[in-house]
Amino acid sequence: MRTVSRKPGCPSIALVVSAPTADDLAPMTDQAFERAVPSGPATGLIFLCDHASNAIPEAYAGLGLDRAALATHIAYDIGAAAVARALAHRFAAVAILARWSRLLIDLNRGEDDPTLVMKLSDGRVIAGNRDAGRQEIERRLRLYHAPYHRAIDDEIARSRVAGHVPALISIHSFTPSWKGRRRPWEIGVLWDRDARLAAPLIGRLAAGGFVVGDNEPYSGELENDCLYRHGTANGLPHVLIEIRQDLITEPAAPARMAERLAAILDAALADMGPPQLQFTRPLPLTKGNSMDEGTRTEIEAAVFRRLVAHLRARTDVQNIDLMITAGFCRNCLGDWYREAAAEKGISLEKDEARGVVYGMPPSEWKRLYQKTATPEQQAAFEASQKAHK
Ligand SMILES: [Zn+2]
Repeated sequence: MRTVSRKPGCPSIALVVSAPTADDLAPMTDQAFERAVPSGPATGLIFLCDHASNAIPEAYAGLGLDRAALATHIAYDIGAAAVARALAHRFAAVAILARWSRLLIDLNRGEDDPTLVMKLSDGRVIAGNRDAGRQEIERRLRLYHAPYHRAIDDEIARSRVAGHVPALISIHSFTPSWKGRRRPWEIGVLWDRDARLAAPLIGRLAAGGFVVGDNEPYSGELENDCLYRHGTANGLPHVLIEIRQDLITEPAAPARMAERLAAILDAALADMGPPQLQFTRPLPLTKGNSMDEGTRTEIEAAVFRRLVAHLRARTDVQNIDLMITAGFCRNCLGDWYREAAAEKGISLEKDEARGVVYGMPPSEWKRLYQKTATPEQQAAFEASQKAHK
């Protein structure tokens, strides 16, 4: 697993208390998240707020913390939820927000991250997490973590089916001082390798008069965090916006901040232009096996070669049937190959790239194996094209 240097602000160490009984909790999966702007067509924007709430399910008795402690930044990102909701309304886009505190389980961490369930935060012991073992963590993963991430997957699927390559925008906030040091940035833009949205956003925020942190106060490079999992792994443009909490604490402040951010975000999205899928890292492993990035890339390439070998052997499978059932065929694979080559600055002829998949010129394969489509196949093809835009 890639080692990540965490900046201060992400104190580490995990693990939890004896589980409340199922009767105590019995949460519905939809209680794991809030979906703001619930209806209407999917757009090309999805807002996220992993640390929206400081609520703790009743059976956990506040994890042993008093109300004052739960009102601080250790429990949630103060002001972030209001900004995320306001932005979602402004763009008529959906927002997925956490329903429970990050102290219960941190939705912006992978399943094996040691900071998934914090024992300590900003010097304070989280009593309700002190004795939690793997079983309790698994329970929280199942009840609170997985449904949130499924909701994001569902939104991405909805947007993709509607023909978008959605941009994911995650809203967080940070405490103005950490370990006695004042943080100068008003807004931090966190990103990993995909700068498509981060770069124009940093420029536009600075031009708009903000003191901007580029991967400050934290680094956006964290394997299996929320944007890695949904943005990087799906080739979607994404960015994490960290807002300093003192700027969004007053009751009317989040709405004002959202209004300023909306104009800037609009401009940054226009700078980026309509996005394509773009992959900057191999796919993440969700269960902490350590493997270097080069090896993972080779494994992914081996799987592609095996898929191609399979399709070459199964000449009985017609492209039109692949299109009807799955929305892609051999030609699509060849075109994706061509697009990936173009990203590396290599321009290939269409038939040259498709030939990699066919193992011969496409016209030759067509002559040898392609059957004339029946009227039923034609009709099914048109229907499936219409259904998936
Ligand atoms: Zn946060």
